[in-house]
Amino acid sequence: MRAAAAELGVATDARTAHGAVLRAASGGGPPSGVSAVVEDLRAAGLLRELRTVESAQGAHVRLDGRDVLLLCSNDYLGLAEDPRVRDAAARAVHEWGAGAGASRLVSGNMTPHRELEAELAAFKGTEACVLFGSGFLANTGVVAALAGPGEVVVSDALNHASIVDGCRLAQAETIVYPHADLDGLAAALDRAAGRRATIVTDSVFSMDGDVAPLHGIVELARRHGARVIVDEAHATGVIGPAGRGLVAELGLEGEIDVVVGTLSKALGSYGAFACCSAELATFLVNRARTVIFSTGLPPSCVAAAGEALRILRNEPRVVGRLHANARALRAELAAQGLAVEPGDMPIVPLVIGDPEAAMGLCEAALDRGVFAQAIRPPTVPDGTSRLRLVAMASHTEAELRDAARVLGALTG
Ligand code: PMP
Repeated sequence: MRAAAAELGVATDARTAHGAVLRAASGGGPPSGVSAVVEDLRAAGLLRELRTVESAQGAHVRLDGRDVLLLCSNDYLGLAEDPRVRDAAARAVHEWGAGAGASRLVSGNMTPHRELEAELAAFKGTEACVLFGSGFLANTGVVAALAGPGEVVVSDALNHASIVDGCRLAQAETIVYPHADLDGLAAALDRAAGRRATIVTDSVFSMDGDVAPLHGIVELARRHGARVIVDEAHATGVIGPAGRGLVAELGLEGEIDVVVGTLSKALGSYGAFACCSAELATFLVNRARTVIFSTGLPPSCVAAAGEALRILRNEPRVVGRLHANARALRAELAAQGLAVEPGDMPIVPLVIGDPEAAMGLCEAALDRGVFAQAIRPPTVPDGTSRLRLVAMASHTEAELRDAARVLGALTG
């Protein structure tokens, strides 16, 4: 394994996203034969199967021929179904065609790509922006490109799998610090002394909806001369002025080297971006393998995201509606006696623990018209299987109250 794995106060086992990947990479994991793996997962209650949504995305979707309330989507603002966003995508297909045809460095860089990069840079308050094919490709590409041989990448234990894989691809040593723990981060940076360090963290963590201590991270980075990469996948369109993200909310624009975000969640489309200095953007276009060796985004995805950004700019109150619904969902769940904190964040983890119990609750809720997919290891640490509930701006408060009652009755 190229990236030596060092962990600070975090066991190298399946309890963490980093641990799970390290275990698999070192060959100590589950049986390797295909059928043995499938049987092993089935026996552990961890086998995953794809469900098929039979309608467009929205606050309600059709599943197995029935209308159900969607309570587990990242389409936070309901923009995937917004007629203006759909029309923008349709117009772009007619004007620019269905695909980009090649890597952007060959012939796949088109006017819509350039225009969206300029709009995203302005939205995030950076000099420049580089589009990527997806959030997964952005994180793996950026982390692997920036953290070179002889360097260190310092990563939060609960970072998204795409960051974990970026660490694995990077030729730097990886040091994992305990989740959101500034003392742990300081210790990791001390260990990295004498080598260039790159700190990487989600801004809003995808499975718990909590936020990274960004002020402290920036302070430590400054003291140690480290770079900072922040993944705003679940903050873009969700937090900050007009949904500009946690970095903007905390007044930290200009302090973060690379702000990654996706077009696939609150912006209702597909694709991703890295906002940074003009020099770093040039570096990424030349060194991020997921830009160089991957086809440019379809113009329709680019146009849809551009329209979503315009909606955010012109109607920032849609973010307020999301927060109001997040508060309502949390209050209704708490009123049902469920252990849920008050707050504005739309990701609401309902931790059950056992994977089969979480799946049982998911199926029972679905029978009653509430679709909240169970999330099990390795996506979350062992013993923390959950329903990851997500409020959307397009829900009504009555729908959220009814859903909370269903979940309360099933768990009471
Ligand atoms: N970062 C985080 C924090 C995520 O939660 C996700 C998606 N779940 C990604 C990156 C990947 O984004 P995409 O779906 O656009 O590949």
